[in-house]
Amino acid sequence: MTQANRTNPKTRPAIFFDRDGVLNQDHDYVHKIVDFHWIEGAIEAIRCCNELDYFVFVVTNQSGVGRGYYTEQDVHIIHTYMQDELKHHGAHIDAIRYCPHHRDAIHAEYKIECHCRKPKPGMIKDILSSWPVEISKSVLVGDKPTDLEAAKRGGIRSLLYEGGDLSVLLKNNGYL
Ligand SMILES: [Zn+2]
Repeated sequence: MTQANRTNPKTRPAIFFDRDGVLNQDHDYVHKIVDFHWIEGAIEAIRCCNELDYFVFVVTNQSGVGRGYYTEQDVHIIHTYMQDELKHHGAHIDAIRYCPHHRDAIHAEYKIECHCRKPKPGMIKDILSSWPVEISKSVLVGDKPTDLEAAKRGGIRSLLYEGGDLSVLLKNNGYL
């Protein structure tokens, strides 16, 4: 057995962010870079999280995929763009999970009662099972009741974002 196998990975707290309405302005089914506009303080908030050694995760419902408004490829393009933008500012997201499903989806492959669409906690639980997260010190930042419910069901705290500078919200609540 190697040393790495004997040593538990060091756990770190995580900040989970909803995407639309928290990291970028929510213009209904944002799926083009031209429509992607960062929320005030979002890049700063992520960079501070990185510097403080938090994991940074994004968990986002993207039922627009299932509804046929855009494709998973479009989602990946947006997420690559976000990571590129963050990189220019010395910041990064550790992992992004999205849910493309919806019960009214027009594509059969997405027309399922999945376990990942918030308020279900599937995306959070998936990340918690894959990363060494210090759950008791972690929080999800969301702008909708479904975000807060998903956090609760995933066993982590939540913080409601209601506009303004995102980094200030995290600072005022003692996370940064
Ligand atoms: Zn899903």
